[in-house]
Amino acid sequence: MILEMLTVGPFQENCYLVGDESSGSAVLIDPGDEAARIAMMVENTGLVVEKILLTHAHIDHVGAVVAAVEEYSCPVLAHEESVEMLGRLPQQAVMMGMKFGKIPEVDDFIPDGGEIKVGSLSLQALYTPGHSPGHLAFYEANEGFVVAGDALFAGSVGRVDLPGGDGPLLIRSITEKLLTLPGETLVCPGHGPQTTIARERDTNPFLQGGSLI
Ligand SMILES: [Zn+2]
Ligand SMILES: [Zn+2]
Repeated sequence: MILEMLTVGPFQENCYLVGDESSGSAVLIDPGDEAARIAMMVENTGLVVEKILLTHAHIDHVGAVVAAVEEYSCPVLAHEESVEMLGRLPQQAVMMGMKFGKIPEVDDFIPDGGEIKVGSLSLQALYTPGHSPGHLAFYEANEGFVVAGDALFAGSVGRVDLPGGDGPLLIRSITEKLLTLPGETLVCPGHGPQTTIARERDTNPFLQGGSLI
């Protein structure tokens, strides 16, 4: 199994490449910016990107999707509820003092619990809204890792003050869908360093029975 991370763009977003060496198949998760650096990461592995997966449609996670689609001629998969947020990318850009080019299109919807095959690997989509509508995490049970997007971070959780954000819903998503994974599961978040489910369950100040305001 290959799990590569590259931190890209002004928001320091973590883009992930998940691949299966035996088949050469890979998926790219959240190509947020710096398409050329992402392409170099992929090239260094020798893997073939067959799908692009989106955890959610915030600008810092989708900025290099159109370029990646051009590069790999592959479909883009996301939860259906992410589509509306994609349509709001120009407004998201204005809010951040930026400009957004072509809006990426979603080719296939991933439902809660949906399985995405990557050679011998299998990513399970975990519907985890609250930070953003239609947010998904991607869990590989055999390898023991979850790409958590902006739901759960090391020592923190996703912000809920952006359009479509919902604090209590986020805490419920994390509690029901992420903290129920095995404690040793490696958490690969959309920003910042990796952690484990056990560490966040035991020490994350947002998950100690309090509510998120
Ligand atoms: Zn986000
Ligand atoms: Zn983000």
